[in-house]
Order: sequence, then C-alpha cells, then structure tokens
Amino acid sequence: MRESRIIVVGSLNMDMVVQADRIPNPGETVLGGTFFMSTGGKGANQAVAAARLGGNAAMIGKIGRDIFGSRYLQAIQEEGIDIQGIEQDSEEPSGIALVIVERSGENAIVVAPGANAGLRPEDVEQQFHRYPEGKILLLQLEIPMETVVFAAQQAKKRGMLVLLNPAPANDAVTSLFPLIDIITPNLHEAEQMTGVKITDIASAKCAAQYLSAKGVRHVVITLGELGAVLLDDGEFHHVPVPRVTALDTTAAGDVFNGALAAAIIQEKSLVDATAFACKAAAIAVTRLGAQSSIPYLHEVMQYQE
Ligand code: ADP
Repeated sequence: MRESRIIVVGSLNMDMVVQADRIPNPGETVLGGTFFMSTGGKGANQAVAAARLGGNAAMIGKIGRDIFGSRYLQAIQEEGIDIQGIEQDSEEPSGIALVIVERSGENAIVVAPGANAGLRPEDVEQQFHRYPEGKILLLQLEIPMETVVFAAQQAKKRGMLVLLNPAPANDAVTSLFPLIDIITPNLHEAEQMTGVKITDIASAKCAAQYLSAKGVRHVVITLGELGAVLLDDGEFHHVPVPRVTALDTTAAGDVFNGALAAAIIQEKSLVDATAFACKAAAIAVTRLGAQSSIPYLHEVMQYQE
C-alpha cells in the first residue's frame, strides 16, 4: 500500500437518486424518471476524487454493518483508498441520502446520517496513528462537530495542512477558524458564514475578505458556473471554469475539494490547484451521480474546452 498523504475524516452515505422534471413542492408528489443507487457522502466523495486525481487518500469514518455498508466498502477500496480507518457499526444503519435531480441539473437532498453521527473523537484518535505520513487533512461537516474539531486539532499538532469544506452549512463552524489553513465554502455557505449577499465576483471577494479577517489564511469560494474566487495570503484571484452543459451538479463541490487536495499534494500553487479543481468539477457536472461522475486524472489532463 502506498503512503496515504491525504487523510479524509468524514461521511459515507449510500445515495438513492431519482431524476425528475422538477423538485416537488411540500405535499406534492411528482412522477420521476430513472432511479439508481450510488456511493456518496461528502467525505467519501472527496476521498474518491482525491484518489482518482492523483492523491493517495485514506479515509476515517463509520458505516453500518448492513448491506449498504459491505457493498460500499468494497466499492471504495477498489478506488485504491486505504479503508482501514473505516469502522462498520453494528448498532446504527449506514448513512443514506435521498437525492432528487432536476432536468436542469439542480438537486434537492435529504441525508439520514446513521452511523456517520456516531463517529467520535475517540475513533479519530484511534485511527489517526495509522497515517503518520499524512500531509493534508480534508474535512467536511457531515459528522459531529466535536469530531471535526478534534481531527483538526490533531492535524495541527502534527503540522498537517487542514482543508475544510464547510458543507453542509453549520453556524458552529466559526469555532474552527483558528485551526483551518484553507476553507472552501460554496456561495450559500459563504453567505451564511459572512452575512454578505453574493451576487457576483466582487461580492464574493467581500465575503472572502470577511473570512480572511476572521483568521483563515486561504479562502476559496466556489461559485458554480462562475468558477471560484480565491484569497491567497491577501491576494485575490478569480479562477474561471470551462463552459459545459450541466447535467447533474451533485457532488460538484466534493470533486472540487478532492481535486484541490490532490493538486496541493502534488505541490501546485493554490491558484493552479484551484484551476485544476475547477476543471475537474466542471467535467463532473456533465455526468450523473456523485462518485460515478468523478473524472480520472488523465481525463482532466486531456480535457479541451
Ligand atoms: P456545490 O456543489 O458545493 O454547490 P458549486 O456549485 O460552487 O459548489 O460548484 C463547485 C465547482 O463545480 C465550481 O467551482 C465549478 O468548478 C464546478 N461547477 C459547478 N457548477 C458548474 C457549471 N454549471 N458549469 C461548470 N462548472 C460547474
């Protein structure tokens, strides 16, 4: 097994996906199209993206000891991810996400966290020692906040780079700021964290400035088809994204984050890493599903606009 230099502490969910003309209103039933199941969860999606895009990844997390859990572990191991740190929980079911994808590519998702909610700081402590070679810790907010904080503290003690994708939005995230090297909110998360209404590149820069003033060294705000705005040691950059026809934007942010970690571990500058991540995520939105949509390194390298 190669050394795992990207450690992801996060969630694993089995996604149940239905395509529909539109997302139903409350109380309404809409007849959908195709149904499929796919491995998902922000943590695992980002681990798979990192692994496919040239980063050696290990994952620490919890999944149920049920049909979904066993099937899931096999799939993610086939990606070349070190799964020794994923525990199968006998008490709780695997995390599940119910996903509706509109024809426009827009989606609506409900997550039942199941075993993910039982990932404790003690579990992270127990598993972390497996990876003394870890260089980047990649975090999201689909596991308990105290576990996220603990993992970030451990990583800082070891001199690792801490990359936080603050998704889904959580008001308690500000307590983490002093531990974070790079934060990567999307537009909605950035608005919620800063109170700045983001309507264009200029307002995204204001939000990035706000987060930077709170003590986060590098801020990357993803803006869908507008790409990303980056505040890197006081300098702003706007990184555009290739123009594509979006089919399903599920996991675009996850692909972005896994790709960003993989590019940083390959010693790209943050601006170049962001451009690489934008390209990888743009390819992903042209395909259906979460992990099924994640491109491989050669696809990103060969991609022509
Ligand atoms: P999230 O998936 O978390 O909502 P975004 O919508 O900001 O995050 O998307 C993350 C990244 O995915 C963007 O920075 C961009 O690189 C890519 N992306 C998302 N939507 C599109 C789109 N319609 N066209 C091209 N790229 C996209």
